[in-house]
Amino acid sequence: MTVTRFAPSPTGHLHKGHAYAALKAWNFALEHNGRFLLRIEDIDFNRCEQAKTEQIFDDLAWLGLKWETPVRIQSQHLEDYHSAADKLRNDGLLYPCFCTRKDILREVEEAGRAPHGSEGPVYPGICRRLSQDEQEHRIASGEAHALRLDLEKALEKTGASMTWQDSLAGEQIARPEVLGDAIIVRKDIGTSYHLAVVVDDGLQEITDIVRGVDLFESTHLHVVLQRLLGLPTPNYHHHALLTDEKGERLAKRNQSITLKALRESGMSPAEVIGECHLRSCE
Ligand code: GLU
Repeated sequence: MTVTRFAPSPTGHLHKGHAYAALKAWNFALEHNGRFLLRIEDIDFNRCEQAKTEQIFDDLAWLGLKWETPVRIQSQHLEDYHSAADKLRNDGLLYPCFCTRKDILREVEEAGRAPHGSEGPVYPGICRRLSQDEQEHRIASGEAHALRLDLEKALEKTGASMTWQDSLAGEQIARPEVLGDAIIVRKDIGTSYHLAVVVDDGLQEITDIVRGVDLFESTHLHVVLQRLLGLPTPNYHHHALLTDEKGERLAKRNQSITLKALRESGMSPAEVIGECHLRSCE
């Protein structure tokens, strides 16, 4: 049975780009006689609001989408992410990182050049080199810290060759080094997008992940986390992003194109859906 999902973060109003992505996942489920789930990714409590979640429900229902209930709301399942992090930590695969953004940039500048991924410079490993004693001492003194994946150790555990299937890009060999020692548990929220999404896709038995190509790079890491947590790797369908007339990616900050605004201006769901199809490249 095909199971897919749309997983928005309630950090702003949905716009046409979200409508396009939601319709992609929805149509995939329909075409495969599968299940369609909606998941609210609201772990970043600094940026997410309950009112925005309600608005997401309204907007998607207005578009004609139907999803199974109860909807999984990530902020209600933090203990699932904590236990996944505990497992990785007990397996010796995470290390505490006390660096600020500034510390990292300074180190990268001093090194002259550093590989960059979609999340900025690949972490240069400053805290990986700390002794056990120093780690313990700094934690005991209450210094704020994130937990990073020790990618080298992780790959010793998983073996180097991991693949996933992307319906558009073909078979992919995982290259987690593009994100390096990624943050698995953020200082401020006690988990991370990467950990929560992998845990939830596993728990919800998602077979097919339909999402924008902006998350393609993250998949290299997600495949490693799935292996480490004993979860299956779903099939991926990374689609092109909907762009505006100038070919630029639609962004939440452009209020005029929110679904709410379109709806209030009298546009019908069929018109929005029609435009999404017209303007899509894939
Ligand atoms: N919550 C993520 C976002 O809004 C999407 C996560 C995913 O589809 O894997 O960008």
